[in-house]
Amino acid sequence: MSVESNQVEKVIIIGSGPAGWTAAIYAARANLDPLVFAGRPKSVPTTILPGGQLMMTTEVENYPGFPEGVTGPKMMSYFEQQAVRFGTRIVTDKGLNPDVSDPDDGHSYSYHDCKSVDLSKRPFVVAGEDDKEYLTHSLIIATGATANWLGLENEQRLARTGGGVSACAVCDGALPVFRDQELAVVGGGDSAVEEATYLTKFASKVYMIHRRDELRASKIMAQRALDNPKIDIQWNKKVADVLGDEKIFAIELEDTQSGERSTLDVGGLFMAIGHTPATEFLEGQLDLDDKGYLKLADSYRTATSVEGVFGAGDVVDSVYRQAITAAGMGCKAAIDAERWLGDQGIE
Ligand code: NAP
Repeated sequence: MSVESNQVEKVIIIGSGPAGWTAAIYAARANLDPLVFAGRPKSVPTTILPGGQLMMTTEVENYPGFPEGVTGPKMMSYFEQQAVRFGTRIVTDKGLNPDVSDPDDGHSYSYHDCKSVDLSKRPFVVAGEDDKEYLTHSLIIATGATANWLGLENEQRLARTGGGVSACAVCDGALPVFRDQELAVVGGGDSAVEEATYLTKFASKVYMIHRRDELRASKIMAQRALDNPKIDIQWNKKVADVLGDEKIFAIELEDTQSGERSTLDVGGLFMAIGHTPATEFLEGQLDLDDKGYLKLADSYRTATSVEGVFGAGDVVDSVYRQAITAAGMGCKAAIDAERWLGDQGIE
């Protein structure tokens, strides 16, 4: 490893979803000259994507300020352009100041991942790709949490192309394409019940596909699903295949006890089988909860267990997981970092 330069950054931001870019916008406007590790696109969408979960979302209709809706990738591109406009630098294979002005044509550079951080010394050391290390006084972690997927080929393809497969009913369920359809939600936890209940507002019927004969959801939530006449729980079933070319029209189910296969016609499929926060690289350095989410020292602020390190977005939030809440936390993290740096006499 070589230290990229002797320069000590005021703030490095890791992550490029709504939280990361919003932190960058605020930090840049506060003259903190932020440096962002946006992460690298991965072929499998269960890993960190630059732009975060919204890169898997086709139409975003619930983010204020876009009355006609906007695609997830476009929205993240706007966030990025806004951050760069105020002087945010991004670590890429083409240097720290890529041209982000024409994202529709695709970027001519690759973003870099942060490989590891060393928070045991000050300034902190952030290791990127190409054996480069960056020094920083403060750090904002906004690496997000990725929705878990079943890993079926057609599931992934249709999720990427707007083919009626999604991992967020609250984000996508109200789209016209899902109205008055029979839909399916996979999972038996609180999220699955919440998403299924939400979908009953638009769908004609919602199947919950659960691999056991008992829900994992809390009693009160489970009862809500059982009492809802529009929810039909398919017990002991797993999704063996997703059927559809441009759009899903059915799922193939396998009985987890008998192995028997059956086909269920549905116009949409929603995954609710948990999320995985992107915190592996932080293990042993920052306090994480038992599910791997980054713990905040005080739920109202964004400080973590190490002074000068702040957390924002889905990496600290297993409850709301919305672009707008992540962006709000990114703003808070940048303000917290600015104030902390000021308290240390670092202007
Ligand atoms: P969760 O509690 O971990 O539940 C995940 C569900 O997905 C489980 O039913 C699990 O089945 C199923 N599952 C996991 N992997 C699967 C696979 N490969 N194939 C098929 N099914 C699979 O996750 P969550 O529901 O997202 O909840 C996360 C946390 O947030 C929980 O603590 C929850 O209480 C909380 N939460 C609370 C609320 C609320 O109170 N309003 C709402 C949402 C979430 P098994 O049961 O067989 O393991």
